[in-house]
Amino acid sequence: MATISKIWAREILDSRGIPTVEAACQLTNGMISVASVPAGTSTGTHEALELRDIKNTRYRGKGVLTAVKNVNDILGPGVSGLDPIHLYEIDAKLIEIDGTENKSKYGANAILAVSMAVTKVGALAQSIPPYRWIEYLAKGVGVNPIVHIPTPLFNMVNGGLHGAGNLDFQEFHVSPASSKSFSEGLMIGAEIYLAIGDDLEKRGAIHSVGDEGGYAPNLFTNADAFELMVDSIRATKYIIGRDIFFGLDVAANSFYKNGEYVIRDKSSPLNEEQLIEFYKGINNQYRLANLEDPFYEDAWSGWKKIHEIFGDQVTIVGDDLLVTNPNRVERAIKEKACNGILVKPNQIGTITETLKVIKQARDANWKVIVSHRSGETNDWLIADFGVGVGADYVKFGAPSRGERVAKYNRLLAIEHELSSNTP
Ligand code: PEP
Ligand code: MG
Repeated sequence: MATISKIWAREILDSRGIPTVEAACQLTNGMISVASVPAGTSTGTHEALELRDIKNTRYRGKGVLTAVKNVNDILGPGVSGLDPIHLYEIDAKLIEIDGTENKSKYGANAILAVSMAVTKVGALAQSIPPYRWIEYLAKGVGVNPIVHIPTPLFNMVNGGLHGAGNLDFQEFHVSPASSKSFSEGLMIGAEIYLAIGDDLEKRGAIHSVGDEGGYAPNLFTNADAFELMVDSIRATKYIIGRDIFFGLDVAANSFYKNGEYVIRDKSSPLNEEQLIEFYKGINNQYRLANLEDPFYEDAWSGWKKIHEIFGDQVTIVGDDLLVTNPNRVERAIKEKACNGILVKPNQIGTITETLKVIKQARDANWKVIVSHRSGETNDWLIADFGVGVGADYVKFGAPSRGERVAKYNRLLAIEHELSSNTP
């Protein structure tokens, strides 16, 4: 079997014009795979460390030359000679070389770039699609994936830290009914996306887009974004509650100020109870399928309360709360803080640690949502990852913009492959 002969990295740009790490892995038989890592904006404080050249003024201190050098000089040589199909061993070696709890010595961006490149080349070496390789790896930790195309959560309206408009909530989702095929769901999402654009244009409202391709308008309230979506959907043939469902990632960290939640829908800041009442009103009116990060990342009591109240109707999704971290997931399971996890490999820093977290979530009967980051590249591995682990949902942004549709288009290819059984 071929082994790793060389791993090298480069600094490239992400979709926001900010540097990120691209790594390549070459095998002794000449096969090469390339992978690049994404980056968040609304990051949780408990995420693994993304190493940036903060003391260097180039790219406003956001360069990644140190992380690149760490791949070239330390991490790559550290795993060369190993067989790429031993990914668990390779990731463990990377973790050991770094030796810190949060990958702060060599950087989670450097480590994940290597882990992803090795994952891809491992599939190539076995002549199997990456999602089949990931399925096999997931089975190795006891996840029993049902390989299918997960239901997409389309981010139609962007606010918070992702939108240039004035909304506090970060993401307003539309998702097709899970009974639809992926290609039909994608078409529904794209038609609704265009309808929202037309509607904003008619209203003379801003219809530029935010970081994840959703529109980023100025509206009177956050609830008005739902009104906008309802209006726009009326102009299509799709029925809310039958063909499509709504969801939210409010990303509450960004509007949590001095112990309270400040949103433009209310004239004064809200405490936990009042925010729950507000969510109840939104849910009664618009029927949420999922509600992500309803409270800030360390508000465990609020999370418990909302899960207790909404848990049997709405998937309460932990992103900044859990940061794909096994310790935080364990605590959330124990405290019954949520019933869904947003899975982002770069929050933890290797592919195999991410798989183990999915196993924890599945054992707790949680929903699994595999997610991009707001700063993305055209790398599509996350699409294969979502399929291979048998995720319930994937969240890859709006059905628009190259770095978002790279993932959706990859899912179309996998759907075709799965249905025709031909690669
Ligand atoms: C999110 O919060 O779910 C998200 C994708 O945003 P970011 O990548 O900025 O954390
Ligand atoms: Mg989120």
